[in-house]
Amino acid sequence: MPESVATRLERHVIKPGLCIGCGACVACSRGGEMRYTDTGPVPSFPAGEQLPELAIEACPAYRLNYPDMYMVHYGRHPENWLTGIAQKVWTGYAADESIRRAGASGGVLTRVLIHLLETGRVDGVIAARQGVPTPAEARAVICHMTAEVLECAQSVYIPVSMLDILRQLEPGKRYAITCLPEQSAALRKLQAGGHPQANQIKYVVGPYTGTALYPAAIRAFLRSKGIGADDPITSLKWRAGEWPGYLEIKTGSGKVVRTKKVYYNFLIPFYVTHASLQSMDFANEFADLAVGDAWSPKLEAQGGGHSVIVTRTAEMEAIISEMHERMLLALQEEQPLKASEMHGHMLDFKKRGGYLRNRWRRKTGRAAPDYGYRPANVPTSRIFVEIVISGIFAVGRTGIARWIVSHIPERIIGPLFDNLRKGWKAASKPTKRKGLSDFRVVIGGEKA
Ligand SMILES: Cc1cc2nc3c(=O)[nH]c(=O)nc-3n(C[C@H](O)[C@H](O)[C@H](O)COP(=O)(O)OP(=O)(O)OC[C@H]3O[C@@H](n4cnc5c(N)ncnc54)[C@H](O)[C@@H]3O)c2cc1C
Ligand code: SF4
Repeated sequence: MPESVATRLERHVIKPGLCIGCGACVACSRGGEMRYTDTGPVPSFPAGEQLPELAIEACPAYRLNYPDMYMVHYGRHPENWLTGIAQKVWTGYAADESIRRAGASGGVLTRVLIHLLETGRVDGVIAARQGVPTPAEARAVICHMTAEVLECAQSVYIPVSMLDILRQLEPGKRYAITCLPEQSAALRKLQAGGHPQANQIKYVVGPYTGTALYPAAIRAFLRSKGIGADDPITSLKWRAGEWPGYLEIKTGSGKVVRTKKVYYNFLIPFYVTHASLQSMDFANEFADLAVGDAWSPKLEAQGGGHSVIVTRTAEMEAIISEMHERMLLALQEEQPLKASEMHGHMLDFKKRGGYLRNRWRRKTGRAAPDYGYRPANVPTSRIFVEIVISGIFAVGRTGIARWIVSHIPERIIGPLFDNLRKGWKAASKPTKRKGLSDFRVVIGGEKA
């Protein structure tokens, strides 16, 4: 008797620790649910439930054939495999200062979601909200009013299951959703597979996504600030204040902890999610609208918050242009290749690093997702760089390394790590950028 879908998901995805907690399989189930654990949301199904094949076909941690999906969704492959298909690339921000300041970079995603709602293009917006059900946690919520969308502004750097909520959509209504890259891809697969609620989603928007953290990082961070587990978290913002923002945590005893985004990056080697390492999609290639931080010295010097904005469909481009004309968004058109230079480091981390990490897992007999394509050429020097990066992650993930880092005061480890990171970035930059401007792929997955 063939293995059930739930058993295959368990064996190939959940047990090997590859599940990214997107919730696509649960969206295909009647009795399943996402359970939140220390390593993010994980699906659970009632014994004996028969899931449709679509539940595993849409699983981004199993295999999602990006070249095939490009043909199905866009009717063509991208010219630029680093950033995907683009109608136009812009930099800019929400003209309304309060929305700009509330957002993670320029408040563009929040402004667009509000516009979609206010112009009646959608009846509801599904977004991630920090603080639900407790201040340290985050969940997907359905918003019907501007104020609710505004409350979801900001990036959430711990995993949030976005797709299981599809089962709650009201028949006949249209929605927009925010998704991380693999969630957008899984959603497109559900839509192509005829999933009825997935097809109620009219617009998929989402952030560029480099790395996310396991929830345990929050307590480790507080420990490094001398705050014990008995002091409850009453509020958490990942990117409060002036762009690029700082992590702000308030606790029951009245303590307020604020740390620059660049300083709490020290948590990444110790608590980075497996999804961040296995993904080859940085620029949210299946979102209609993808938005990242506009990391350019000129814009950073201006302050205030700037985003890089990629429209992937003619319809989304028309909406963004309309918002530009109506002065809801302040925008400047950019040359796509030049704009991608802002994210060369992360594009390399995903496109070549992700490929190498998945390939090494397979070579050592461990499961890894297959995205149906591979970089045409990875220089040997880049392989050496990856050995160092993967070595750091392998050591950082151990219990002893996590214990040590949580006992070093953040005022020491934060700046120390920031300097090490900058030094390493500068030293490895020539290798990481080598061949990136001419990045080509081979379609057909890699031969392990
Ligand atoms: C985990 C993560 C990693 C990132 N890494 C990078 C990076 O390496 N480089 C880079 O340039 N940009 C990165 N970004 C994107 C960046 O932080 C901003 O989200 C992006 O610039 C959009 O800013 P904004 O002001 O337009 O968004 P906002 O106006 O603040 O709106 C953000 C919207 O996205 C939703 N959202 C936030 N987090 C999640 C989530 N986890 N899952 C689903 N929906 C969510 C919110 O609900 C909100 O509606 C990352 C974002 C995340 C969530
Ligand atoms: S579909 Fe998503 S939630 Fe389900 S097993 Fe795969 S990655 Fe995990």
